[in-house]
Amino acid sequence: MARYTDPVCRLCRREGLKLFLKGDRCFKDKCAIERRAYAPGQHGRRRSKVLGYGLQLREKQKVKRIYGLLEKQFRLYFKRADQARGITGENLLRQLELRLDNVVYALGFAASRAQARQLVRHGHIEVNGRKLNIPSYQARKNDAIQVREKSRKNDQIRLAIETASGRGIPAWLELQPEQFRGMVRDLPKREDIRLPIQEQLIVELYSK
Ligand code: SF4
Repeated sequence: MARYTDPVCRLCRREGLKLFLKGDRCFKDKCAIERRAYAPGQHGRRRSKVLGYGLQLREKQKVKRIYGLLEKQFRLYFKRADQARGITGENLLRQLELRLDNVVYALGFAASRAQARQLVRHGHIEVNGRKLNIPSYQARKNDAIQVREKSRKNDQIRLAIETASGRGIPAWLELQPEQFRGMVRDLPKREDIRLPIQEQLIVELYSK
């Protein structure tokens, strides 16, 4: 599957905020936003205020980048959100939050969503007792997500769990750290998603 492979700190600088794409480094002074808080490129310091369509576009790009999706995948999520019952923007965010790689990250088993995706792909995660290596799997209420027994000594996972403790677990998830296990207690509500996202702008963009 195609994926973004260029330096990810550029993405944060482009959006003008921390997207937390690099795990531990994002909380240190080495973070590129802390050192160069302006857009990348020759004219990065001179960019003027974004309005209207530009604002909608930036919001869409920001959300795509947070969840590590490419345009085609993101459009598919939007289409499904639009067809589902309820508020399109909220449906969209709920689907993104319920991706298995996001749940693994939110539970603290990985330092970033990219690392979570890799853990899933490499077969370190099981859902309801069965290995599942599809990062886009949509978690459901009462799903049990667990690090596989043989992967529990993995240094990357242990380190991620140690450092993620300060991040907090979303209200719709429950963590049993001793068992390397988490449960989807409920579907995420809009107020549970604390990312700085104005999803209405994305709906307006795609509704043109
Ligand atoms: Fe973004 Fe993290 Fe890079 Fe900082 S260190 S710019 S938050 S990816």
